[in-house]
Parts: sequence; structure tokens; C-alpha cells
Amino acid sequence: MSSDIEVIWTDLAQAWSDLRVQPDDASRWASLMMSCDQLIAVAAEQGLTSTAIAVAPLLTRLETMTKPGPADLAAIETLLPAIEAALEHPLQELAVSPRQPGARQVGEPPLVVLYSADTELAPDMAPHLEQHGLRLERHADALSALAAATDGAAAAVLVDVEPGFGAMVEAMVAELGRRGIAWCAVAAQSDYALRLQALRRGASFFFVAPLTVESLLPVIDPLAFPLAEPPFRVLILDDSRTVLAGIRRAMSPFADIQLGILSQPHKVLEVLQFFAPDVLLLDIHMQGCTGLEVAQIIRQHKAFESIPIVFLTGETDPKAQNEAMRLGADDLLLKPVATDLLYNVVTQKAKRYRGLRRLMEEDSMTGLYNHGKTKALLQQYLQQAARLAVPMAYALLDIDHFKRINDTYGHGMGDQVIMSLSRHLRQRLRGTDVVGRYGGEEFALLLFDCSPTEAVALVDELRESFARMVHGTRDSRFSASFSAGVSFYPTCRNLPTLMARADESLYEAKRAGRNRVVANTPSPG
Ligand code: GH3
Ligand code: MG
Ligand code: MG
Repeated sequence: MSSDIEVIWTDLAQAWSDLRVQPDDASRWASLMMSCDQLIAVAAEQGLTSTAIAVAPLLTRLETMTKPGPADLAAIETLLPAIEAALEHPLQELAVSPRQPGARQVGEPPLVVLYSADTELAPDMAPHLEQHGLRLERHADALSALAAATDGAAAAVLVDVEPGFGAMVEAMVAELGRRGIAWCAVAAQSDYALRLQALRRGASFFFVAPLTVESLLPVIDPLAFPLAEPPFRVLILDDSRTVLAGIRRAMSPFADIQLGILSQPHKVLEVLQFFAPDVLLLDIHMQGCTGLEVAQIIRQHKAFESIPIVFLTGETDPKAQNEAMRLGADDLLLKPVATDLLYNVVTQKAKRYRGLRRLMEEDSMTGLYNHGKTKALLQQYLQQAARLAVPMAYALLDIDHFKRINDTYGHGMGDQVIMSLSRHLRQRLRGTDVVGRYGGEEFALLLFDCSPTEAVALVDELRESFARMVHGTRDSRFSASFSAGVSFYPTCRNLPTLMARADESLYEAKRAGRNRVVANTPSPG
């Protein structure tokens, strides 16, 4: 809880150091103001009155400032040490919570256990699965399968089932269930009664033998490499500090909610821009304007047209409530609102909004960012890199002779290769990197805070490991490769140049024989 203050102070200090370089950045000013609001709310909540008092002059200055000038910058500079001093004392008494240990050691592939005595049920898939970053262990004995699954924290267990299940299998799946390990049934044939039995015992999926890598991957992949869903971002705009503190307290136990606090209606557009909430909680009665007016102003902007707005009001008048719904409110909650209700409404709205955005931003076949979103992110990251003065690399990948793969093995197999490469890229890259499907068999990578040498080594390593993968069916195996062009920021200073240089380098890689990475080097002069 108390490390909250540290986080907010770090944000505030970051916003301030950015502003010293770029005092015209309106969204940074909004960020600074939001940090102040947040700091006061948390300080009040934790009974740190001296901190709240120390922050107040800064907030007042920010509120009364119209266009920031050198005098404002100087004044703010003098206010900060007092805040830091006020923070320092309580901060020293706070126990700093340790970082969560990493979920899985890098380099150790997730384990899939196959329990079956019948070798025909699943021909040897281990080498093939290994290429997709999965380790397969086969056990013919239920006890050793269970021990392997629990000791190795298996991502999934594949269980050979027969009608009636049998006491051994019954006990095994019950134990897996208790330990929260996912299991899938594998049966010799599709049998409705058996499917039902498996479902009722908690099976995640039902496979019909023979198992193939192609049928297995789409089911096992999400179990083995769950996408970490970032917390829902919720912004509350309310001019009452008591309400803000109350909502903060109510929402703080929920790890899947990141709350942004704002008390100034006139800052809402800038805050929406940089905080990018999944849902907005809006007070109806505020000093100077109403929440209904704020909502209308927000809806005038295309980017915020569909952001869910939930009004919070003490108003029980049905007419006012109707008016709120008419203006496009997604819900209306009466204050004081019960924590459970607030949590459920907020997370449901946020989930639906994310789902909608995903439809617009993701490529449906691979789940990677689509062309439009990739370009938008490139632009955003480029600005971020400029602001933080960090290097960045952009790589354009194109599968070699892909038409030949389609022609020889069929379009469906071509799709499989595209999906293998997507999965491969996603598994290897960091959360801060961007992987997009740029076109049919073209992919774009954005490597943030990455030097040219690191970037080229990384893309080359991806190239090598992809070229080692074997695709196809048991009867016809083949491998594929890609070529890549890589360009760099700050060598290329804007998006068109960055993209054009990567494109040229990719063309060069193709011309030089394919299956290689070419780095853009600035031409002399
Ligand atoms: P190069 O090495 O020069 O890149 O040769 P290439 O054959 O890969 O390049 P080309 O651009 O001539 O062909 C790309 C082919 O990719 C053409 C198109 O039919 C195919 N393709 C595009 N999208 C998909 C897709 O989603 N699935 C499949 N199976 N094929 C696709
Ligand atoms: Mg192409
Ligand atoms: Mg190609």
C-alpha cells in the first residue's frame, strides 16, 4: 500500500523532469497534475497530513496557471524540495515490498505431460513441439504422469481417457484439478457421453486421436503462454476529495484495477490522452460544470467516442438519470456505491471496451497487431523514444518464397507457417516490444530501448531459430526462412524514413539471396 506513494512520486518526478526539457507538452502538465491529485488522495488516506499539506501549494499553482511560463517553472522548482522532504520521513518507515519473482525462468520451456500407454494414440511429437517452445514428456503410468506434472508445474496434461474413466484416471484428474493444472482429454474416438464425462471432470479440451501438432498447438499455446492481461485502467473525475479517497480505498484491494484520479474537469481531455483509461467514472455535480457537460465534450472527440462512461451521482431524480442515459452514459451508479457493484460494473465495461478495441487493432488470424495499429504504435513509440532519448530499432520481416510454400503444400499449410512465425516472435520478444502483422507474410518488429548491435543480433537469432523449425505433416516435412531489413532511431529521425530504410534493407536482403538480415547503414555524406 505504502509503496503507492513512492510510485506516484516517481511519476511526478518523471513528469517534471520531462517538462523541464519540453515545457510545452500539455499532456505532461496534465500528468503532473494527476500525480498531485493522486498524492493528496493517498496521503489523506494514509493519514499523512503533512504530505498532503506539502503538495497543496503545487496543485494550486498548477490549477491557476494558464500558459506556463519561465516564472511558473521556477516556482514549481522551489516547491518540489518541500514535498520531497515531507515524503522522505514517512517513506523511510515504509517497508518496500519485494518484487514478484519472475513467473518462469527464461530458457526453460513449459512442460506438457502426456499420459497414455498407447503409442499409436500420439506419434512422437516431442521434437516437433520443442520447436514451438514446448517440452513434451510421455508417461505410461498414471502415478509417474501425475508426479511429473506436479513437480514440473506442467502447463497442461493430456490424458488418454476411456468410457467409464476408471479409478486411476479419475483420481489423477481430480488431483490435477485441486492443483490448478489444466488437463485435456484424448480419446480414440469422438463419443458424446465421454465428452460429457470429461467436461464434468474439468477437462479444458477434448482431442480425438491421433494427436497432431497442428491440433494441439492452438489449445496448448494459450495454456503454456498465457498473455498477461494488463490491469484495467479506470479514471475517476470528481471534485470531491472525500469521494476520490473513498473510491481509491474501495478499489485498492483489486490488483486488476489501476485507478487514475482527477479532480479538475478542464484537464480531462489531456488525461484521457495519456492515461488511456478503459472506463471513465464521472461525477455529475461538480463546481463550475456538470458531468453531463464533460461527457458531451469528451464524445465530441473521435478518439473517445466509445470509451465507457459511468456516472456517479447522489441524484435519485429519474429525470436527471434519464438525461444522463440519453447523453450516452453506459451506466449510472448512486453514491455511495457498494464496492462489489462498482468493481463489477467497472470491470465488465472495461472488458467489453477492450474486446471491441481488440477487434479493431488485432489481426484475427495471428492475434498480432494489425497494419493500422502497428503504424500507430510506431508513431507513438518514436515520440516516446525522442522524449526519453533512448535508441530504438524497427525490423521488417518477409517470409522467403512463400508463394512456393502455398503452391507446394497448400494455402492451409501456408497459414500454419504464418502462425508458427507469429508465435515464435511473440514468445521471444519483450512486453515493451511491438510485434505486428504488417501484411500477408510480412511482419513488423519494434524494439524499444535497443541499440543497433543488439537489435541486429536479436533479429538474426530469430531468423536462425525460425529457419531451424520444421513444418508440415508427418509425410511431408519442410522448413522456411525469412529475410529482414532493420533500421534505427535516432539514425532515422522520423517514421517515413525509418520505414523506407527498413524496406530498402529488406529488398537488399532478398536480392543478396534471402534468409538473411540486412541493417540499414546511413549513406556517407
Ligand atoms: P519473396 O522471397 O521474394 O518474398 O517471395 P514470396 O513468394 O514470399 O513473395 P510474394 O510477395 O511473391 O508472395 C507472397 C505470397 O503470400 C502471395 C500470397 O498469395 C501469399 N499470402 C499472403 N497472405 C497469405 C495468408 O494469409 N495465407 C497464405 N497461405 N498465403 C498468403
Ligand atoms: Mg511479401
Ligand atoms: Mg515473401
